[in-house]
Amino acid sequence: MIAFQTPQTAIDHVKALRWPNGPVCRYCSSAKAYTLSRKNMHRCAACRRNFSVTVGTIFEDTKLPLRIWFGAIWLITNHPKGIASTKLAKD
Ligand SMILES: [Zn+2]
Repeated sequence: MIAFQTPQTAIDHVKALRWPNGPVCRYCSSAKAYTLSRKNMHRCAACRRNFSVTVGTIFEDTKLPLRIWFGAIWLITNHPKGIASTKLAKD
């Protein structure tokens, strides 16, 4: 939660990991994409499809912000004896 204090910091982190040289189309792998005025959306110059950084990942279509998912992943992976789903939901 400290590392990703705003939803945008988590999105920027995924972008840096997934697209170190800029957005790449998920559908045709073209590196020519425009950033749309709608935040965090891109349009491929080749196939004209819209995509975001989460398309094609386990985070696609999630309703939760990425920073919440990252916090949950951190809790799961750093709890020495595992964590109950009820405890995870509470935390
Ligand atoms: Zn494309």
